[in-house]
Amino acid sequence: MADGVCREDDNRGAGNKKLTKSKSGLRIIPINNTARSPFELKEPTWSPDKENPECSNGKCGQKFDFLKRRHHCRRCGQIFCAQCCQTRVMLPRMCFVDPVRQCFRCSDITNAENVFFNSSLKLLTNGAQFDVSSPERPVLCQTAVTSDHRFIRFEPTQGQAPPERVEVARILSTEVTQSTIEYAPGQTLPEAVVVLYRVPGSVEERQVRLSAGPHVNDWRLSTNWIVALERALELVYEGRQPSQH
Ligand SMILES: [Zn+2]
Ligand SMILES: [Zn+2]
Repeated sequence: MADGVCREDDNRGAGNKKLTKSKSGLRIIPINNTARSPFELKEPTWSPDKENPECSNGKCGQKFDFLKRRHHCRRCGQIFCAQCCQTRVMLPRMCFVDPVRQCFRCSDITNAENVFFNSSLKLLTNGAQFDVSSPERPVLCQTAVTSDHRFIRFEPTQGQAPPERVEVARILSTEVTQSTIEYAPGQTLPEAVVVLYRVPGSVEERQVRLSAGPHVNDWRLSTNWIVALERALELVYEGRQPSQH
């Protein structure tokens, strides 16, 4: 089972959850709207029954009648016959408590995402070391995504003032620098990432540069962390679009 997207917050009191019931199933969501995970997807609008005389899977085309019932895919909202929408998969990005019915295409996407939640996202929350320039002073920091996935947090290894945390939902873009690094001969790796983000409650844009430079304790972990961040942001950007497909 995938790690839930909707998890407890970092002791900031925003971790209070409520159970709600939508027509798609039982969901557990934060009471406070601002505490929502940046990975969360909105539930789709259900396609109306009367506009769908047959299964939306083009390869199937099953006509609906009294015996052949319509089923909505919980992820895309389209209508399918029972066979084309029989897979139930955990869908943490929509905060469902139980596995929910999904069409073939959506269940494939969701399964791939769940692999991500179990691997890359865990790596991001476990953290890695970077030289963090924000932008003036490089400070060696343990860098991690918070357990509620809302922030990138920096903890200096030598007690300096921590750089400002970055709200994941307000990241605008990233630019990764690939390079052949001297302590990894012959390998081209993502060595640094510049994160462009908006300051909370403002339109002001700022940059922070994370470098897996020679000071970090485990450069391979740090480069993997950058790769995981890029994958995570693809999902975050997707969640911002009005439609899922
Ligand atoms: Zn679907
Ligand atoms: Zn079908």
